[in-house]
Amino acid sequence: MDFTISDEMQTTLTMIEEFVEKELHPIEFLFLNEPFRDLLPRIEEKRARVREMGLWAPNHPTEYGGMGLGLVEYGLISEALGGSPLGHFVFGCQAPDAGNIEILHLHGTDAQKREWLGPLVAGRIRSCFSMTEIEMPGSNPVLMETSADRNGADYVINGRKWYTTAADGAAFAIVMAVTNPDAAPHERASMIMVPTDTPGFEIVRNIAVMGEAGEDWMSHSEIVYRDCRVPRANLLGDEGRGFVIAQERLGPGRIHHCMRWLGICRRAFELLCTRAATRRIGPSRTLADKEIVQAWIAESAAEIEAARALTLQTAWRIEQYGWKQAREEISMIKFLVAGTMLRVIDRALQVHGGLGMTDDTPLAFWYRHERAARIYDGPDEAHKQSLARRILKRYR
Ligand SMILES: Cc1cc2nc3c(=O)[nH]c(=O)nc-3n(C[C@H](O)[C@H](O)[C@H](O)COP(=O)(O)OP(=O)(O)OC[C@H]3O[C@@H](n4cnc5c(N)ncnc54)[C@H](O)[C@@H]3O)c2cc1C
Repeated sequence: MDFTISDEMQTTLTMIEEFVEKELHPIEFLFLNEPFRDLLPRIEEKRARVREMGLWAPNHPTEYGGMGLGLVEYGLISEALGGSPLGHFVFGCQAPDAGNIEILHLHGTDAQKREWLGPLVAGRIRSCFSMTEIEMPGSNPVLMETSADRNGADYVINGRKWYTTAADGAAFAIVMAVTNPDAAPHERASMIMVPTDTPGFEIVRNIAVMGEAGEDWMSHSEIVYRDCRVPRANLLGDEGRGFVIAQERLGPGRIHHCMRWLGICRRAFELLCTRAATRRIGPSRTLADKEIVQAWIAESAAEIEAARALTLQTAWRIEQYGWKQAREEISMIKFLVAGTMLRVIDRALQVHGGLGMTDDTPLAFWYRHERAARIYDGPDEAHKQSLARRILKRYR
């Protein structure tokens, strides 16, 4: 395994790191304290600069205006962007659009790509992914209730979803719905593109998550699909292939998430060390003189490096052999990196004392919002269970 990067890639990474520090860190206070839509004009200015610099959509296909980077290279960029809560959005590679772009690119028809993929990669529209239901377990989504019944040339969708991230203001949703109720459990559901202005698509509310309902890209909606009728041409991929495509979406997506989380780790670690070294707690002593803080610093440094090495190894393995051959590592990094990130954020917040609880630094924001890392894209426990089962097979 060799993670050496080209000089060109190093130059790109340095440019991105400088941009994040000089252009994004200064507007974070506004992001953390003002409604998201109020900040959008400033964000659009930054996005225009990113396009001019040729750094737009680093992970997306070149034929649609992205940089077309591979998993390892994009992983490193994702880490650099993770250092600011605005990083991925400003560079056009934010969730959930990034995953939707990937599956549209792989499974979309020419007409679907023309209508949705181009504008999505360009950042002219946003999208959302609508799978999880209130009444059904997201950790076992084959128990899905939302249905899409064939009716002439259309599908008629009925159901209630929640946690559809960024639905507020999105142009379309990719909805998972049961199209083949009599098929085997994993072949019952399909993905269907639903423009959000379709009659019967109704956002019930933006759910308050950790005290914030948010808005626009920064929100999670509850949605009712009531006799929501779309052409059958809006089917993404084949009928009954929804779960297969969802798995494809999640595999590489986990690398993106994990590298973003490692970017958060790095920034939280920098904040931790800076605060420890500068916060005076006596006439000639700072927090950094305390053994317990030193232990937090040492443990955080080691945990971040270990998590990073395994994540890059996983990205490399996916690139070499495909995501199916990297299933065990994908499960490992999902809970390992999420846990590492939450511990590092917690230590950094603790060292900041009362300041850590405010929105004057991004720590409290991450403490609230990144707690979800242990739940979405498969809860920790589900990954641990499937990993342990695979390992135990070798002993039985
Ligand atoms: C911030 C955030 C954003 C999200 N964005 C989206 C989105 O854009 N689109 C979308 O469709 N969904 C989204 N989700 C939903 C997410 O995918 C689900 O919350 C997740 O799949 C878990 O499903 P659930 O909430 O129904 O929990 P449940 O399935 O009810 O599970 C609850 C708990 O049970 C435990 N558990 C589950 N399985 C096992 C097991 N095998 N062994 C032991 N314990 C287990 C775990 O502790 C788990 O946390 C988002 C969620 C969050 C929090």
